[in-house]
Amino acid sequence: MPFALTLVHLEEALQKPGCPICRLGDEAARRSVDGFLWENVNDPESRRPLQEAYGFCPEHTRLLVTTEMESSGVLLGVNLIYESLARQAMRDLQKGGSLQSAPRGVWGWLERFRRRPTTPPDAPTCPLCRVVEEVQANALITLLEDLTLHAEHARPLYLRADGVCLPHLRQALHLHTQRFPEATRFLREETARRLETLAAHMREYIRKQNWAYRDEAMSEEERVAWLRVLVFFTGYSAERLVRRIEPF
Ligand SMILES: [Zn+2]
Ligand SMILES: [Zn+2]
Repeated sequence: MPFALTLVHLEEALQKPGCPICRLGDEAARRSVDGFLWENVNDPESRRPLQEAYGFCPEHTRLLVTTEMESSGVLLGVNLIYESLARQAMRDLQKGGSLQSAPRGVWGWLERFRRRPTTPPDAPTCPLCRVVEEVQANALITLLEDLTLHAEHARPLYLRADGVCLPHLRQALHLHTQRFPEATRFLREETARRLETLAAHMREYIRKQNWAYRDEAMSEEERVAWLRVLVFFTGYSAERLVRRIEPF
């Protein structure tokens, strides 16, 4: 994806709620699910990652189903993909396999050879999760580039945004401190400053629950500080955090 295009998307995401990097990953999954449903269904080469992972993760399976339900109502893609996966799982079980996700071919053979029998099987990697991870890794670099190259424009934009979540801040600090020293310092200091303010508001919220201080009014900032802290820890938008949990 060209830099300019990613930059436009990133700056749009910064103006929406929640972690912009998480949001771009989520949007990428929604875009790519169409490819799995309609374009790659009959292409054995594109289906291989799906077979190696024994399907999508639960969250992306739901995305697959709801996308097809909303677009055509006929679940042809889901039937084609999961009939093949069901058959694959059945065959592997009949052969005495343990449904362990592993790359096939020469690399798969080497991997099995290398792995000690006591090592628990790797968690299957959902192909949509891989897309999300890749897009998020690129988006994070784009953010750091933007904060470095266009600091005068990008930093005020960032200051108004919800900002990056804990996992993405961790990723930035762990992987990119050397390449983007100023941008990572900015993120570190800005996040610490926000958390300091929010923790102070939360302490006030807690204090005012005490009967002795019942006459002191609660400010709006104190009322919602916990939500903004949770946005940081999860990457979710505030709206998503308080949405009712659906029944299983
Ligand atoms: Zn995030
Ligand atoms: Zn997934």
